[in-house]
Amino acid sequence: MKKNIRIPDLGITSFTVPNTCIHCHKDVGFLEVAATPPIQQDGGNVVAITFLCPSCSKFSVYEYDELGYSGNFVLVDYSYTQTANVNLPNNIEKVSEEFVNIFKQAATAEAYGLKDICGVAYRKAAEFLIKDYVIRKFPENEEDIKNQFLGKIISDKLDAFPKIQTLAKATAWLGNDETHYVRKHSDKDLADLKAFLLAAATFIAADYDADEALIFINK
Ligand SMILES: [Zn+2]
Repeated sequence: MKKNIRIPDLGITSFTVPNTCIHCHKDVGFLEVAATPPIQQDGGNVVAITFLCPSCSKFSVYEYDELGYSGNFVLVDYSYTQTANVNLPNNIEKVSEEFVNIFKQAATAEAYGLKDICGVAYRKAAEFLIKDYVIRKFPENEEDIKNQFLGKIISDKLDAFPKIQTLAKATAWLGNDETHYVRKHSDKDLADLKAFLLAAATFIAADYDADEALIFINK
């Protein structure tokens, strides 16, 4: 939508007003409340306009760049994204690239406050981590491992790695709580799921490093 807005020192100018509120995501029609005087930059002026959403009563600020002092201003496309800080052990991507991808998505969902979705995503990340790790250990069983239930793989294939087996089991139990209607382990929550998952990833990454060291000393 185009709107004529008064800019200090510049007068009435036409601006494209964003349709959707970044806070409530409704298309309700912004009300402009304030505009900065033009700020001179290379290639034209820049102005910032503050809008008020009539639906949620929150403010947002948009930047407009002038095309070569022509009096024509274009809306700068801002994306208000949350950054998720992900701190995963070194080399874990060598074991499971998909684990890293899904874990980052889960952390992003969590950063946006999507609590009911991120638990399911962490559960999926755990499945890829554990299955990819077991496939490394038993490459001859790759197809079976891909198709079997996670719980069965944990109990059948991880006996030789008891700490990883314990952490994987705890992660899977809490992960299943995130996907099912009834929560079985009400004394534990998402923070516990993440802690077990990250501890499992740390052991798996260390196991990868130990395998690399073994290859090195046997050369
Ligand atoms: Zn709004």
